Amino acid sequence: MSFIEIENLIRNFQNGNDCVQALRGLNLSVSEGTFLGVMGPSGSGKSTFLSILGGLCGPSDGRVVIDGIDIHALGGEKLADFRREYLGFVFQSFNLVPYLSALENVMLPLAIKRMPTPQKRDRAREVLAKVGLEHRATHLPSQLSGGEQERVAIARALVNKPPLILADEPTGSLDSTTSKEIMDLLAHLNQEGQTIVMVTHNQENTEYFQRTISLRDGQVDSDRSVYTATRAT
Ligand code: ADP
Ligand code: ADP
Repeated sequence: MSFIEIENLIRNFQNGNDCVQALRGLNLSVSEGTFLGVMGPSGSGKSTFLSILGGLCGPSDGRVVIDGIDIHALGGEKLADFRREYLGFVFQSFNLVPYLSALENVMLPLAIKRMPTPQKRDRAREVLAKVGLEHRATHLPSQLSGGEQERVAIARALVNKPPLILADEPTGSLDSTTSKEIMDLLAHLNQEGQTIVMVTHNQENTEYFQRTISLRDGQVDSDRSVYTATRAT
C-alpha cells in the first residue's frame, strides 16, 4: 500500500437547487517521499481535493488512507489529532499571527506538546535555521518580506516533523525570483525525504515536481512522473 491511497473520491456541493460535483471519482496513489504537484484549470477541484486530503472537509464518498489510516473514518477529535501529528499546512496567505515574532509563530504548533518551553524554542530555532531565517527570529511578520513570511509559514509547517506537507499556492503572491527560492527550499526538503503535495496553477513550478497530476472536472486527467537519476547521497 502506498503512503497515500485515494479511492473513488467524490464531493458534491449544493448550490441552491443545483448540485455541483467538485470531485467525480478521483483515484490516486502517492509514494512516500514524493514531491507531487497538483495542477488543472480553475474549478477543476484542486482546492476541494487538498481540503479533503488534509481532513479539513469530508468527502461525499470514497476514502483517503494515509499511512494505513482511513482519515475520514476517524471522527472529529481523532481526526484533529491525526492532522497535528501527520500534516503541515502551508497556505498562500501565510496565516502568520501579526503580533507574534517569527520564532513565536513557528512555536505555535508546539503549544499543545508536553515539552519544556526552552526545548520548544530550540526546536523552532532549528527549523528557522533550516529555512535560512535564524537572523529574523525576533522580527514581526510585518517586518519581513513576502518570501521571508512564506519561509516562516514553511518552518511552522515543519516544526512538528509531520510526514506530509500540504501546500496551496505557496508562491501565489510572490514575484518570480522569490517563488524560485521558495520552490528551491521545498525541493530541498523533499530531497531530505519530506513528502509534499502542492496545488499550483503556475506552470513554472512544474520543473520542481517529481510527479505532476492535472485535474479536470474532478478527476485525474494526466499524470506525469520525472524519473531522475539515483540521488547522490
Ligand atoms: P479549483 O481549486 O481547481 O479552482 P475548487 O475545488 O475550488 O476548484 O472547485 C471545484 C468546483 O466545486 C467548482 O465548480 C466550485 O465552484 C465548486 N465548489 C467548491 N467549493 C464549493 C463550496 N464550498 N460550495 C459550493 N461549490 C463549491
Ligand atoms: P483557489 O484559488 O485555491 O482555486 P477557490 O477560489 O477555488 O480557491 O476556492 C476558495 C475556497 O472557496 C475553497 O475553500 C472552496 O471550497 C470555496 N469555494 C469555491 N467555489 C465556491 C462556490 N461556488 N461556492 C462556495 N464556496 C466555494
